[in-house]
Amino acid sequence: MHDEMRARLIGHYAQLGALTARECSGQCARPRSCCEEKYCAFAIDFAKTRWQVELQPTWHPALPLMGDDGCTAAPHLRPICTAHTCEICEHGEKRGDAAWTARYYEIMNAIAEIEAIAFAGETGR
Ligand code: SF4
Ligand code: SF4
Repeated sequence: MHDEMRARLIGHYAQLGALTARECSGQCARPRSCCEEKYCAFAIDFAKTRWQVELQPTWHPALPLMGDDGCTAAPHLRPICTAHTCEICEHGEKRGDAAWTARYYEIMNAIAEIEAIAFAGETGR
């Protein structure tokens, strides 16, 4: 992948992560309660195979990538988690907030466009 394409992709994931993190930290009664070991395992494998990044386990007994201040993996290394919110998962939108939903899909589409080119022929996700 070109450096420029890599930087754009990382930037889009960072924006997506900021967008979804706000939903969880501001509105969830049990923030991070949706984290599971299997998603950490996916992220560790994904980071290694697609980005050649070795994610290091934390002290956490149940979630290998959970640190003191939340997830230790950068947003582009854990795409399933970064894209996840309860509203999107359950309703495909953030109900009552068309602007947020539009921004979410704008970023997701931008990511998909880059990944279709950058990772053509790969099966990893
Ligand atoms: S995805 Fe849902 S359960 Fe998980 S932290 Fe966000 S609002 Fe909470
Ligand atoms: S957000 Fe981080 S700690 Fe939570 S499941 Fe995903 S990779 Fe694991």
